[in-house]
Amino acid sequence: MDACDVAIAGGGPAGLVAGLILARAGLRVTVLEKHADVLRDFRGDTVHPSTLTLLDELGLGDGFARLGAQRVRGASIPVAGGGPPVTVADLSRLRVRHPYIEMAPQWDVLNLLAEAASAEPGFELRMNAEVLGPVVEGGAVRGVRYAEGGPSAGPGSERELRATVTLVCDGRGSVLRREAGLVPRSWPVPFDVWWVRVPGSSALSDTLAPRGGRGLMYVLIPRGEYVQAAMLFPRGSGPELLAGGMEALRERFARDLPELAGGFGGMAEEDLKFLHVELSRLRTWYRRGLICLGDAAHTMSPVGGVGVNLAIQDGAAAGRLLAPGLLDGTLSDRDAQGLQRRRAPVAAATQAAQRLMHRGVARLLRSDAELALPRPAARVLRSAPALAAVPAWLLGVGPRPEHAPDFARR
Ligand SMILES: Cc1cc2nc3c(=O)[nH]c(=O)nc-3n(C[C@H](O)[C@H](O)[C@H](O)COP(=O)(O)OP(=O)(O)OC[C@H]3O[C@@H](n4cnc5c(N)ncnc54)[C@H](O)[C@@H]3O)c2cc1C
Repeated sequence: MDACDVAIAGGGPAGLVAGLILARAGLRVTVLEKHADVLRDFRGDTVHPSTLTLLDELGLGDGFARLGAQRVRGASIPVAGGGPPVTVADLSRLRVRHPYIEMAPQWDVLNLLAEAASAEPGFELRMNAEVLGPVVEGGAVRGVRYAEGGPSAGPGSERELRATVTLVCDGRGSVLRREAGLVPRSWPVPFDVWWVRVPGSSALSDTLAPRGGRGLMYVLIPRGEYVQAAMLFPRGSGPELLAGGMEALRERFARDLPELAGGFGGMAEEDLKFLHVELSRLRTWYRRGLICLGDAAHTMSPVGGVGVNLAIQDGAAAGRLLAPGLLDGTLSDRDAQGLQRRRAPVAAATQAAQRLMHRGVARLLRSDAELALPRPAARVLRSAPALAAVPAWLLGVGPRPEHAPDFARR
């Protein structure tokens, strides 16, 4: 019979970090990933200070440094009435080992994690393995059903993987979560996003620069030879924006972002990568034998770029809290409860902050005003720049940063 201690649905950030730590505890871990590779563009490339520290603890700091990531040290906003933008979040003021956000393609980070995990004798990553649902016996989940060969595999490809515990890490559209009968609560989101890669460089080479107005908002992320731009627009208005044709949209972008104007010339509709923004969270993250982590437990808005980092922190907490019970055979609902108690307040607090920011974004998208910091607020921040450490801490470290357990450190 195909069996292991931990079956993990999904080889994203949450699944691979949990898998690596549990395998380092000496457990037999199998990760089932439906895709044949991890190559997906714009999939959360932000690696925050808390995650960088965790990677160091796992002995992956040097490997990460070799990826040649781009550093972002803060965020700044234009001031009402003109003048230079003011720094509203300054990560360089944080007293942490890595006072910056690193921008690294998510697939590079996933490959780093997968390679490290594959060095453990108990770890296996099965690609092209699409999880279909849980195996349930006596009211408890005892593993998963999956299709070998991925989504296109025909009948006869279905397999069963038995496990003491199953971790649901298959992301925001989690099939396993649905099949396990867990339904998240969702909050309405007033906007959606197009991600686009714009050739050229931002004047603010290490600073996130939100700006915009008159119905659109932009967040520019410097990525070296290009700028990753998020274009936020009111929910449902995408077709309207496209109705005037790509030429009109290119002109609009060039007008709003003059320093990148030259980069929009060849932009086609398929270059606009659409992100339907979601904000949702499970009330209960588990049922007997199964626990949800990362986006499957709490789908985050892209505001603050925290989704990957929360997923990784969930994975680390799962590794630390579940390993002892798995090793001595005492794993119970209490361990799952403990894991939810540890991580759910962090997700809830972050989502509450994101909902507040959504209101500001919605107001801006509805109005004709430009995004600008009121002059009194700009004066305060200029005279007390240390205040910019507070949003930087919330963004970069946040409450309850997770650390690698001793057994997983290298
Ligand atoms: C376009 C976009 C841009 C984003 N930008 C940012 C950002 O800049 N910063 C940030 O922090 N976050 C960002 N996010 C969010 C971030 O990507 C997620 O929060 C994070 O990846 C969640 O990690 P996860 O491991 O929980 O799930 P995911 O990363 O979604 O990983 C889930 C994995 O499960 C696999 N899978 C799915 N279904 C199955 C199945 N049935 N069987 C087997 N495998 C399955 C998927 O292929 C995937 O590999 C972005 C998200 C999107 C969509």
